[in-house]
Amino acid sequence: PGKNSGALNGLSSSENADAKNLRVKLVLLGDSGVGKSCIVLRFVRGEFDATSKVTVGASFLSQTIALQDSTTVKFEIWDTAGQERYSALAPLYYRGAAVAVIVYDITSPESFKKAQYWVKELQKHGAPDIVMALVGNKADLHEKREVLTDDGMELAEKNGMFFIETSAKTADNINQLFEEIGKRLPRPSPSS
Ligand code: GDP
Repeated sequence: PGKNSGALNGLSSSENADAKNLRVKLVLLGDSGVGKSCIVLRFVRGEFDATSKVTVGASFLSQTIALQDSTTVKFEIWDTAGQERYSALAPLYYRGAAVAVIVYDITSPESFKKAQYWVKELQKHGAPDIVMALVGNKADLHEKREVLTDDGMELAEKNGMFFIETSAKTADNINQLFEEIGKRLPRPSPSS
């Protein structure tokens, strides 16, 4: 009992023979302009650049973190760049993803609406045991807030997602986002 049978999504068996070192594919979803690239850059490089539009593009950036239980998690982060224009590729984009992070901008109700669309998409294309996070970014712009924290929380709760509000600009909750995701990842059984 409790033993994990079958392949874990997004966990390559060779890389994860060691249950303490996980490697996972993470896909980013969300409207253009909500701050996906900035979140990745803040997480991977500890930088925020408001001027240059960074496109992670077809490849990915990776970053490894250590959790308190001494597990390490290597995130391979796939940015959504352009994928809306190639919706036929969506299933490919989701394939093997152990984690999906849906981002909206707390100053943009439209982007929140779009987040709800992405939740449905994931339920269609994503793996059944995918770890999903909902992120309300640009939390530093509280004077311009148009999406209530409660609304984000409710959407996340309804869909079994982890919820957090972040700011790529101030770095608020960026590391926490990835740590919480790491804690929620299924652990391969040590004996497999
Ligand atoms: P993407 O299209 O979702 O990848 O969005 P970008 O990462 O390119 O960010 C879009 C714009 O939002 C840029 O001008 C960023 O400077 C700005 N931005 C991103 N994150 C934040 C944030 O947390 N706070 C504020 N104030 N601006 C942000």
